[in-house]
Amino acid sequence: MLIKEFISETNRNQMIAKILKYYGVGNVRVKHKFMKNHAHYEVEKGVLYLSKKYKSIKPHQLQEFLITIIHETYHAIDAKKYGWQKFRDMWETEANKIEQGHVKGKSDGYWDNPFEVSAEKFGQANWKKWKRVFHKDGLM
Ligand SMILES: [Zn+2]
Repeated sequence: MLIKEFISETNRNQMIAKILKYYGVGNVRVKHKFMKNHAHYEVEKGVLYLSKKYKSIKPHQLQEFLITIIHETYHAIDAKKYGWQKFRDMWETEANKIEQGHVKGKSDGYWDNPFEVSAEKFGQANWKKWKRVFHKDGLM
């Protein structure tokens, strides 16, 4: 499958809008800021931040980019499902349990957090599907 040499910011924004809408969280606002990660969902504000670091997405960054967007979208889905305050509390409760050594075999409140594990699994399971969709749409 041939992928364009780079993906423009316009196309990237279209892809994100499509993903958010598809999963029923089309009301999430999208903003841009400088950061290392491709994206970050800020639960308190209901804002999906996109990195300004990447002016364009190169083919070798595509997988990571799509996984990150879908991962962050999953947090938005959880926030909608539970209400953002409850979701934040649940997330923090899990992180604390892990960091206090109450969960066997888990030590990292972030990476071992079940909400993070689920979000990452969701990203890993769905990025190829979206790659096909966006390729068909001519966005990449
Ligand atoms: Zn996450």
